[in-house]
Amino acid sequence: MTPKIARFLATAQPATPCLVVDVDRVEENFHALRRALPLAQIYYAVKANPAAPVLSRLVGLDSHFDAASWEEVAMCLRAGAPATAISFGNTIKKVSAIRSAYAAGVRLYAFDCEEELEKLAENAPGSRVYCRVLVENEGADWPLSRKFGTSVEAAGALMRRAGALGLDPYGLSFHVGSQQRTTVAYEAAIARVGMLFTDLRDSGVDVRMLNLGGGFPVSYREEVPEIDAFGHAIMGAMTRVFGNALPEMIIEPGRFIVGDAGVVSSEVVLVSRRPTPSAPADPPRWVYLDIGRFGGLAETEGEAIRYRIATPHDGGPSGPVTIAGPTCDGADVLYDRAAYRLPLALRGGERVELLATGAYVSTYASQSFNGFAPLAEHYI
Ligand SMILES: *Cc1c(COP(=O)(O)O)cnc(C)c1O
Repeated sequence: MTPKIARFLATAQPATPCLVVDVDRVEENFHALRRALPLAQIYYAVKANPAAPVLSRLVGLDSHFDAASWEEVAMCLRAGAPATAISFGNTIKKVSAIRSAYAAGVRLYAFDCEEELEKLAENAPGSRVYCRVLVENEGADWPLSRKFGTSVEAAGALMRRAGALGLDPYGLSFHVGSQQRTTVAYEAAIARVGMLFTDLRDSGVDVRMLNLGGGFPVSYREEVPEIDAFGHAIMGAMTRVFGNALPEMIIEPGRFIVGDAGVVSSEVVLVSRRPTPSAPADPPRWVYLDIGRFGGLAETEGEAIRYRIATPHDGGPSGPVTIAGPTCDGADVLYDRAAYRLPLALRGGERVELLATGAYVSTYASQSFNGFAPLAEHYI
C-alpha cells in the first residue's frame, strides 16, 4: 500500500467496500516499464482499469491504448487520447463497433481468423491489421485458454490474405497469459512467432510490427521477477531472432500498470467457526468480508489470484481460515484451499485491506447482486 493510500484510508475513512487507487503509482509503473523496454510502444490494456483518472494520467505520458470494445475506444477518446494512439485489440468485434471506431479514426485492429478479417476489410478498409498467434500460457496464473489466436501456419496464410483484401498486413501478436510469472514464456513466444515473421518478410509481405501482448506480473502473496528481468529476457530473445533488424515492438500491459496502485478496503462482516461432520471437534474458522466474488474479486475464481490481506492485528497469533464474500451464493468463497491464515484476534466490524487490487476488480463488480451496490472507487 502506498503512503498516500494509507493516509487517505486513515483520514477519510471511506465507506466499505471501496477501491482506492494512487494514480501517482500508476505513473511510476508506466515509467518503470518504459525504462525496462525502451524500444516498445506501450498500449495500456484499458480493461484492467478504465477509470477516467487513470486514462487521463496515461494520456499525459503519451501512452497508447489497447481497447477491447467500442465503449473502451470511446473512453480513451474522452480522456484525450488521439485515435491514432488506439488499437482495437479484441479479435472478436461487432460490426457496429468496428464502424464506430473507424469513423472515429482508429486504424489499428487485431484479428485471428478469416471471418474477422473480412469484417475488417469491409468496415475498416485500408487499416493496419495484426494477426494473433496462439502461444503457450504455461506459467500464467490467469491463462487465456484457447479462445483467441490461431496457428503459425494459418496466421501466415491470413496475413497474405489481409494484403489481398486491401488491408495493411502490419504485424503479428501473441499473449502469454495474464500474471505470467516466467520470463521464458516471452522468450519462447518470440522465437516461435519471430520465425513466422521472418518467413513472411522474406516472402514479400510487408510485416513490420511484433506485439508481445501483456501478462507482466504483480507481486501478490508470491514474489515475482522484477520488470527489468522481463525487459532483459525479451530484448535478448528479440536480438537472437532479428539481429539488428528489429521490428517495431508493442506491449499491452494492464495488470502491471494498475495492479499494485490499488487497495480494496473491506469490513469484516462475521467471523465464526462452522462445525462440519468431518471436523466436529475443531470447526474451521470462516471470515466473511463485505466484498467477494461478485463485488469485484472475480479473479479469485479457482483461487487463481491470491491477494495479500492486511489486518489491524498483523504480527499477532494467526490461524487457518476460509475467506468468503457476503452474498447468498455458495460460489462466493474467495479462498478455501490456498492455505490462508489470519490473526485469531480478528473480529466482525473491523477493517481489512486487500492489497494490489487495482487491476481487474472495479469492472468485475456485479450490478447489484443481492442488492449490494457496485464497488465504490476513489482515485487520489
Ligand atoms: C487482457 C489483455 C492484455 C492485458 O493483460 P495483462 O495481463 O493485464 O497485462 C493485453 N493484451 C490483450 C490482447 C489482452 O486480452
